[in-house]
Amino acid sequence: MINASIKQLSAALAARTISSVELTQLYLDRIARLNPKLNAYLTVQPEVSLAQARVADARLAAGNAEALTGIPIAQKDIFCAKDWLTTCGSKMLHNFVSPYDAHVIARFNDAGAVNLGKTNMDEFAMGSSNETSHYGPVKNPWDQARVPGGSSGGSACAIAARLCAAATGTDTGGSIRQPAALCGISGLKPTYGVVSRYGMIAFASSLDQAGPMGRSAEDLALLLNTMAGFDERDSTSLQREKEDYARDLAKPLNGLRIGLPKEFFAEGLGGDVAQAVEAAIAEYRKLGATVVGISLPNSKLSVPVYYVLAPAEASSNLSRFDGVRYGYRAPEYTDLADMYEKSRAQGFGAEVKRRIMIGTYVLSHGYYDAYYLQAQKIRRLIAQDFTEAFRHCDVIMGPTAPSTAFKLGEKGDDPVQMYLSDIYTIAVNLAGLPGMSIPCGFGANNMPVGLQIIGNYFGEARMLNAAHQYQLATDWHSRAPQGI
Ligand code: GLN
Repeated sequence: MINASIKQLSAALAARTISSVELTQLYLDRIARLNPKLNAYLTVQPEVSLAQARVADARLAAGNAEALTGIPIAQKDIFCAKDWLTTCGSKMLHNFVSPYDAHVIARFNDAGAVNLGKTNMDEFAMGSSNETSHYGPVKNPWDQARVPGGSSGGSACAIAARLCAAATGTDTGGSIRQPAALCGISGLKPTYGVVSRYGMIAFASSLDQAGPMGRSAEDLALLLNTMAGFDERDSTSLQREKEDYARDLAKPLNGLRIGLPKEFFAEGLGGDVAQAVEAAIAEYRKLGATVVGISLPNSKLSVPVYYVLAPAEASSNLSRFDGVRYGYRAPEYTDLADMYEKSRAQGFGAEVKRRIMIGTYVLSHGYYDAYYLQAQKIRRLIAQDFTEAFRHCDVIMGPTAPSTAFKLGEKGDDPVQMYLSDIYTIAVNLAGLPGMSIPCGFGANNMPVGLQIIGNYFGEARMLNAAHQYQLATDWHSRAPQGI
C-alpha cells in the first residue's frame, strides 16, 4: 500500500479493500517510527486525522467520493489550517494555532482528503536545505547525513520515505522542484496565479506559488485538479475555466519539441547530474520527441535579481510579525518599541534577518533606483527570453539543481553557495511560468537526480503529459530509499 499511486489507493478505497482509517493509521504508525530520525513532520494530530478518515469512509460508503477522498496528504507548515499549529518553520510562530483554513487546505478538505500532518520547512520558506528551520533540519531518506533540499524539504522527505501518499509545497525560487529533485520524487510549481495564495504565509508575494508533490506525474495531476481554481480572496488568483490536468496524460509524445537551454548545461553543472539529464533526453527522443537548442541569455542574472526582489517583498511581508496580536513576544521589554525589537530579534533566525536587512536596504531611498527598479527591469528581460524560446519549442528541459543532495552543514556558512542551488529554477518564478521536477536517475553517492521540465504559461497539462509518458517508460520514480 505504501508504494501505491493515488489512483490505486483510490480504487482500493472504493473497492473497500482498505478503509481510509486503516490507511491513515498505517501512515501514522510509520510516522511514529521514522519521524524521530527524519524530522519531516512538525505536527501530527492522530485523532484529528483519524476523525477526517472516518468521515471519508462514510462518504466512500455513501458513494459520493472524489479522486482524493480518504487519501492521507501531508501539508507544508506554511499553510494555515484551522486548529492546527502553523509555524512556518519559525520560532516567531511557535504558538500560532490558525483560526482559519488556507484556500488550498479548504480545497483538500472539501475533496475529503485526510490531513496527515504539517511538514517541516526552512524558516518562512527561506532556504534550500531545510537547515534554517527553527525545529531542526530534515534528513534526506536516501542518506540521512544529507539535506533533503528546501524549503519544502519536509514534504519531499515524507513522500520519499513513504510517510504520506502525497504532499503540498510552495515554490518562490525552487522550493518545490529542488527538494523534489534531491529526494527523488515529483513536484510541480504551477503558473503564477493558478493556485490561490490565501492563507499561505507570504514570503515574496509576486513569486510564491503552491503546488503538488508526489511520487508520479499522474498523482500530481490529480492533486492539482483539487488545488487549482479561482479564489476571490487572492487578488492575483486567475479567473479561468476549470481544467482537467490529467486530460493529456495518455497522449503520445510524437512531435513534442524539447528546448535545451545552452546556459543550463554550462559551467557549474555537476558531471553526474549532466549525465543523468542527457540520458533522460535520449529517452525522450526514443519516445518521439525532437530536441532544439535554445538560449536564455539573461538567465544568468536570475539569482542576483531574485536576491534583490525576494528580500524586498519579504521585508515588507514580515513586518506583520511584531509580537502584538499573535506569535512570539519577548518575555521582557521596557516599552513598545523595545518589545517590537526584542520580539523580532529573538523570534527570527539568522537567514530571515539577513533577508529583511537586504530587503529594507534595496528599498531604501537612494538605493531603490539602483537595485530594486533595476532588478524589476531585468526580471522583464528574463521573462522575454522564455517568450522567445517558446516560439521554437513546447517544453524546456534541463537539470533541476546543479548537484545531488549535499551534506548537512556543508553550505551552512556560505549563503551564496546555498543561493546557487536554485540557479536553474529561479528564472521560472521570475517569469511566472510553470516548472516541475521528476526523478531521472542517480548521481554521485547514489543520490537522486531531478529532470526539470518548464512549460509555457498554463502548459501544466502538456508538462504532466511529458512527465507521465517518461514515467511509463522508466522506473526512476518508483525507486524507494533502502531501509525505509
Ligand atoms: N532557496 C530559495 C530561497 O532561499 C527559494 C526558496 C523558495 O522557493 N521558497 O529563497
